[in-house]
Amino acid sequence: MPTSLFKDAITHLDKAAKFADIEAESLERLKYCRATLEVSVPVRMDDGSLRVFTGYRVRHDDTRGPTKGGIRFHPNVSLDEVKALSFWMTFKCAVMGIPYGGAKGGVMVDPKHLSRLELERLSRGFIEQIVDFIGPDTDIPAPDVYTNAMIMGWMMDEYSKIVRQYTPAVITGKPIPLGGSLGRNEATGRGVYYCIKELEKKLGWTPEDKTVAIQGFGNLGQHVAALLHQDGYRIVAISDSQGGIYSDSGFDIPSIIHTKNDTKRVRAVYCEGTVCEVVEAKQITNEELLELDVDILIPAALEDVITKDNASHIKAPYIVEGANGPIGHGADDILAKRDILVVPDILANAGGVTVSYYEWVQNKSGYYWDVDDIHKRLEKRMSEEFNNVYNLMEQHHCDMRTAAYVHALNRLGQAIEAQGTHTFFSEEVLA
Ligand code: GLU
Repeated sequence: MPTSLFKDAITHLDKAAKFADIEAESLERLKYCRATLEVSVPVRMDDGSLRVFTGYRVRHDDTRGPTKGGIRFHPNVSLDEVKALSFWMTFKCAVMGIPYGGAKGGVMVDPKHLSRLELERLSRGFIEQIVDFIGPDTDIPAPDVYTNAMIMGWMMDEYSKIVRQYTPAVITGKPIPLGGSLGRNEATGRGVYYCIKELEKKLGWTPEDKTVAIQGFGNLGQHVAALLHQDGYRIVAISDSQGGIYSDSGFDIPSIIHTKNDTKRVRAVYCEGTVCEVVEAKQITNEELLELDVDILIPAALEDVITKDNASHIKAPYIVEGANGPIGHGADDILAKRDILVVPDILANAGGVTVSYYEWVQNKSGYYWDVDDIHKRLEKRMSEEFNNVYNLMEQHHCDMRTAAYVHALNRLGQAIEAQGTHTFFSEEVLA
């Protein structure tokens, strides 16, 4: 792990600023988080004991709108990580042109060790602690690593009870009957898929000729795998936190998804249950998966998995970042020198927050759209912004991450500067 994920995250700003239309003072503002909140959440456990969990909510910048970003439940959550994640949300929303700033939240907990009721008490308790910090027009949480629609439902209900007003627009990624949007659950995976389809169009390849490895088989990994598989891509390797499997001939993704969701693990799924006779699979580690000789690598788990140490061993010519921050400090330059094209997280995984925005709009208007409408809008927006970023990359001869930051900085610069800059407030102008 680097010393500070947040410090590493902001280094992208100076790199991109030289190509962006933004003033130095506007750039400076973006190097800080507006507000950070640390809370402790006491939870009564099922055995009668009390445990206290630490949690955070950070708002990075709200110039372009209320802040937006998920809440993760993970044992390694730290303030520094949540700050970096909130920073990435500001840039993700700006890349996509959706009217939000960036925020993030997290609780230090391994949710797999909690019972359902303990998880509910923790979710509600966390909202009780951050209730004054969030709101439908100030800061809007959503799911992230190890949180899901059910948790969002509890959180929205808790918020609504405290403010004594049904407030679906305070949280997105909710269950459909509680004001969730159709298409939100699969939106992040779909966004990654649309990016790959744009590459396919640009580079003119045939899906059947391309092999794919996916690290992480949660919500995102499963949806992107299913969509690519349907189009004929060969998914030769997948993994989860327990380890991975490899098959040269590619996996039958629908049956793996079925088994994973039944047994809760991917390792050795081919040795048990109904799918075991179908395909021979070799067990691999998460580290080995990253270094496989495949065409497309999708890191879809946690941050900082491709580092200075393994970047020179990556063989995939295309990396599409499903997770936030999977490529660590210093690794980008090594990959760029080796001509590996990286579709960056703030574009590639932006499908989730984009459909969150659609959910929020539907909640605010009280009028709900059908699923085809959601998919079409998402596809159009992903394709437009992908091409905007791709064109900037070609124009400035830079990597695609830098181009995405340039695109976001142009939008952020316009918004910050519309409020006035040093030239507007200088003595000669005011005189
Ligand atoms: N947690 C997701 C992300 O990192 C979604 C955030 C949202 O929908 O607000 O983009």
